[in-house]
Amino acid sequence: MDDCLFCKIANKKIPAKIEYEDEEILGFHDIDPQAPVHLIFIPKKHIVSLDQVQISDTNLIGKLLFQMAETARKLKISEAGYRVVNNIGTDGGQTVFHIHFHLLAGRKLKWPPG
Ligand code: 5GP
Ligand code: ZN
Repeated sequence: MDDCLFCKIANKKIPAKIEYEDEEILGFHDIDPQAPVHLIFIPKKHIVSLDQVQISDTNLIGKLLFQMAETARKLKISEAGYRVVNNIGTDGGQTVFHIHFHLLAGRKLKWPPG
């Protein structure tokens, strides 16, 4: 997708501080962190949101979640705990329409979210 911000980050047309990368997945630091650790994980494949995920994408999304947990262990935040967030659509708070999962850590997170 030519005009998609996260496709541009995946294709290295826009720089980001990368924390994890493989052929299919990218994990990078959020530009406006909401916690001491705030990473964004995306599939390099353009998928609009969880609402658009097909059965053929489920291995990819499962691998992405696994790599988020691996990264949390690598960063030594898994013991204290962290949160994974996926916003879907306008009411869900989604502002970038390429599926992404937030990894938030480093402070006690409130519940419920606003
Ligand atoms: P959403 O609100 O769609 O769930 O999350 C989009 C996230 O992307 C926000 O947390 C926002 O700060 C982040 N973001 C927006 N533009 C950029 C950018 O150019 N680079 C990076 N690294 N993050 C971005
Ligand atoms: Zn995209």
